[in-house]
Amino acid sequence: MIANYHTHTWRCNHAEGTEEEYILAAMERGLEILGFSDHTPYPFPQPYVSTFRMKMDQFDDYVETIQGLKEKYAGKIEIHLGLETEYYPKYFLQLLEKLRDSPLEYLILGQHYIGNEVGDPYSGAVTEESEILRRYCHQAMDAMNTGLFSYFAHPDLIRFVGNPKIYRQYMTELCREAKSCGIPLEINLLGLRQDRWYPNPEFWEIAGEAGCQAVLGVDAHAPWHLTEPYSEIAANEIAERSHLELLRTVPLRSI
Ligand SMILES: [Zn+2]
Ligand SMILES: [Zn+2]
Repeated sequence: MIANYHTHTWRCNHAEGTEEEYILAAMERGLEILGFSDHTPYPFPQPYVSTFRMKMDQFDDYVETIQGLKEKYAGKIEIHLGLETEYYPKYFLQLLEKLRDSPLEYLILGQHYIGNEVGDPYSGAVTEESEILRRYCHQAMDAMNTGLFSYFAHPDLIRFVGNPKIYRQYMTELCREAKSCGIPLEINLLGLRQDRWYPNPEFWEIAGEAGCQAVLGVDAHAPWHLTEPYSEIAANEIAERSHLELLRTVPLRSI
């Protein structure tokens, strides 16, 4: 791979290393493009605290740090400033207002919760309820239709263990929407590294049938994730088996 747009920083409370260590690791891997897309801050109402993302008041430091490194490494590796963002309809416009004052270059969609997170279910919780699956898919489709997301990270995060026919029906709908919106779907290397329930082969078969584009995302939460080669091999096998068009780079959509 020559580009990775899915990289976290220590600000999300579950990643380690300095930003510069990630950049050096990316260069060691031979990447030409490295995008930082840490978990977005979100303007939730008090007293709710989301523990897996940066705080709103850490955003300026995030921007300054990445912009500084972009200059420092200019000509050596292309650095981009992004965020991994859920689409939470209740708070999304308020978030955009904040982000639009910044030099942010892109958003990737990572729909970690259904609804608006506060009091709503985690997308990766085991469920056999088709209503949860339907809500996840329709929310992701609404997100893609905003035209603001450059790609969809781990679209198969939902852990549905109910009727496979229903899974196929909703995921076909989601994949067709991704295709018509021109949104690439990410084969998530973290899921492969940690042997998680995603990438889900069933999902990728459906995505292939729908003619979707795919992209590899390291989802780096530590610098060494950028140099570990095995998950890329496994991800390429998924892409090949499912006849997916694999993009080496992704055009970034500005917000
Ligand atoms: Zn994370
Ligand atoms: Zn991520």
